[in-house]
Amino acid sequence: MKPDVIQLTKDIVSISSVSHQSNTIICDLLEETLKRCEFEVERLQFIDQEGKTKISLVAKKGAGKGGFGMFSHSDTVPGDEWAWDAFSPAIKNNRLIGRGSCDMKGPLAATIVAGASINPSQLNKPLLIIITADEEISGRGARQVAEESVIFNSCRPMHGVIAEPTQLTPVYAHKGGARIVVTAYGKSAHTSTDLGISANFLIAPFLAEMVEVAKLCKTDESFMNYEFDPPTNGFNMILDDGGCKPNVTAAKTICTLGFRPMPDDRSQDIIDMVTEKAKKYDFEVTSSQGQPFYISPEARIVQTGLKATGMSKPSTVPFGTDAFSFQDSLELVILGPGNIEQAHTVGEYIEINQLFEAVKVYRKMIEMLCIQ
Ligand SMILES: [Zn+2]
Repeated sequence: MKPDVIQLTKDIVSISSVSHQSNTIICDLLEETLKRCEFEVERLQFIDQEGKTKISLVAKKGAGKGGFGMFSHSDTVPGDEWAWDAFSPAIKNNRLIGRGSCDMKGPLAATIVAGASINPSQLNKPLLIIITADEEISGRGARQVAEESVIFNSCRPMHGVIAEPTQLTPVYAHKGGARIVVTAYGKSAHTSTDLGISANFLIAPFLAEMVEVAKLCKTDESFMNYEFDPPTNGFNMILDDGGCKPNVTAAKTICTLGFRPMPDDRSQDIIDMVTEKAKKYDFEVTSSQGQPFYISPEARIVQTGLKATGMSKPSTVPFGTDAFSFQDSLELVILGPGNIEQAHTVGEYIEINQLFEAVKVYRKMIEMLCIQ
C-alpha cells in the first residue's frame, strides 16, 4: 500500500530523532517504507563524537545515470518537551503539530510519497531520495553521502531538490555560515590577592573594535548583497569566560564571532580583518567558513521548480541547508512545504495543505526530470 503523507509524517514525528541521539530507529522505519515503495536502499553509518550511531539513507528507483534526487534530513533540534508535547503529533486547525513537522519530517514524507507514486518502469532516468543525519549540528551525514555513497556516486544525479521549508517557493541562493573564535588567556586568582590577570580586561579593547566591525557590516554596502532579505550578514558576537565569579579574575575568555556570508559580500575580508585585529593583541584565533549556496535563477532545476509550483520568480533565503555539501555535484534548488519561521519553535507545525501540495509539486518535478 502506498504511504499517506499525513500518516507518514505523524509516524516519523512520533520517533524522536534529536541530533544528539542515535537516529537508527527512525531510519529503520524510513528504510522499510522506502523498500515497500520499490526503492533500493543504501545505508551509510558513522559514529558521532558522543559515540552515537548515525545513519544516512540513499534510495534509488529506476536504472541508468543522471536523473533527479530529493534531499532531506532525519534529525531535529531538541524537543523542549518541558513546554509542549513535542513527540505526540496532533492535527488541529488544518495543521500537523510536532517537533520536526516543518523542519523537516513533513517535507521528507512528501518526497517519499511523491516517489512512491511512480512506477519504476515509467522512469527513463533514476530517481533518488537522500536522507542525511546530523544536518542540524555538523552536516556530517551529507558529507558522508557525497563522499561515500555507492548509489549517489554511481548515478550522479544531474538535478536535485533540497526539501527544506520554503512555502513551496523555489529558492536559488542562501547565505553561508562563518565563525571566528578568538581566545584571550589571563591568570586566575582570588581578587583579594590582586595577583590575577583578567582575560576579560585583556580582551575588552578587541571587543570595542568588534563594535566597529559590526557597524561596518550594517552600513557599508560592499559587505551586503541585495539579492537577500535582509541584505546584511547578521554579524554577531558571544562571550564565554567560563562563568567566572565576581571575586575571581578570568583565566580565559572566548569571543565567538559569526556571520552569514553571501556571494560577492567581501566575507573573506571580514575574516582577514578580524583575524588581524586578534593577532595584534596576541590572542589565539581560528576561523571557518561554510560557503553560501548559489545557482543561476535561469538554471534548468530552478525553472523546473517554477513550472511545478506555477510561480513566476524564484527567491533567496537567509538560512543554510545541506546544499553546501552537494552543490558541487549537481544542480540544486531549495523547495519544500512549510514556513521556516515554524522551524525550531515550541509548537512547531506544518499546514496540511502544504504537505498535499508538496507531493504534487515533487511528482511534477519527477515527471519533468526523469520521465519526459
Ligand atoms: Zn532543516
